[in-house]
Parts: sequence; C-alpha cells; structure tokens
Amino acid sequence: MTQYKNLEEYNLEITDEVKSRYSSIINEIGEDLNRDGLLKTPERAAKAMLFLTQGYKQDAVEILKGAMFKESYDEMVIIKDIEVYSLCEHHMLPFFGKAHIAYIPNGHIVGLSKIPRVVDVFARRLQVQERLTNDILECINNTLKPQGVAVVIEASHMCMMMRGVQKQNSVTTTSGFRGQFEKIETRNEFLKLISSNLS
Ligand SMILES: [Zn+2]
Repeated sequence: MTQYKNLEEYNLEITDEVKSRYSSIINEIGEDLNRDGLLKTPERAAKAMLFLTQGYKQDAVEILKGAMFKESYDEMVIIKDIEVYSLCEHHMLPFFGKAHIAYIPNGHIVGLSKIPRVVDVFARRLQVQERLTNDILECINNTLKPQGVAVVIEASHMCMMMRGVQKQNSVTTTSGFRGQFEKIETRNEFLKLISSNLS
C-alpha cells in the first residue's frame, strides 16, 4: 500500500460474514431482527466495525515516507489537539480524546497532515491507550529518525464510563518520549507548550 485512502471501501465477503455475526448477536440479546429499525442494522454495524478497524490494512510508515522533505529547521514541531477515536481491545468499546505530538527534525520534516493520519492508522484497530501511544512514538521515531519525539494522549474510555467502575469524568493520560525529549528541560518545554492556550 503506497497511498493513504480515506474512502469507505468494503470487502463484500468480509462484510457479509461480519453482518451475519451481528445478526446472531442482536438475536441473542433478545431483539427482533425483523423490526423495521433493525432491518439494516447488521449491515450498518458490520460496515461501522470494519471502518473503525481499517488501520490493520494501512501502513503508517508508507504514509510518513510519502511526505518527508529535506529541511534544516531544527526546532520543536508540535501538533496539538489531534482527535483520537479508538476501540479498547478488552471490551471493543470506544475510547476517545486528544493526542499531542512533537518532534525535533534531524534533516527532514514531514508534511503536517501526515501526523494525524499516523494517529488514525494505529487508532483504527483494537487497542489499549498505552500501546497506541507507543505505536505512534516508535513509528515516527524509526521512520523520520528525528532528534527526538514526544507523544501525549489524553482519553476517556467508554468501558469505564458506561460500565465497570462507571467513572464519567476520569481521563487517562499516557506519554512516551524519545531522544532529546528524554532530557527534562526539553520535555518540560513541550509539556508547557501543549498546556498553554496560544491558539
Ligand atoms: Zn475496555
């Protein structure tokens, strides 16, 4: 795969298979599949699930490599407030929030829109927030080979909010740092910049 596509494309065979599983589930929970509102629900649910997990078919390394440019800029580049929507692998319920990502170039910069795309590729899988953070961090670090990279994700988990401990207002924060960001001053500068409201 060389190009990132944001199209809703479905393999019909897989969609049909997933659709029939959703029919069984709807039936098992005691619903009537022939009820008007539910007639097309298995197909819609299958398509939604396949859309939300399309990251398995995408290659984040290729996305970054497709837009790397030689540039001598060597200050911190920060992309704040990137929306994150993922599915927790324990309950297959959504977790969502924001990612803040920074890197310090080392001869190359990357097209700014590619960073949120990398987030989507890893978020559209069954995930835990910790691994999602690390997947993004390692991908940028190994592909762009910057002087440093930092990733912070703040997210709310529906599996905690709607069930389990039913904590509606808790936010989970995860972070990872490589290279220059392992130095406390650089890391603090980044954390200060993402918590300020310049925009
Ligand atoms: Zn969960």
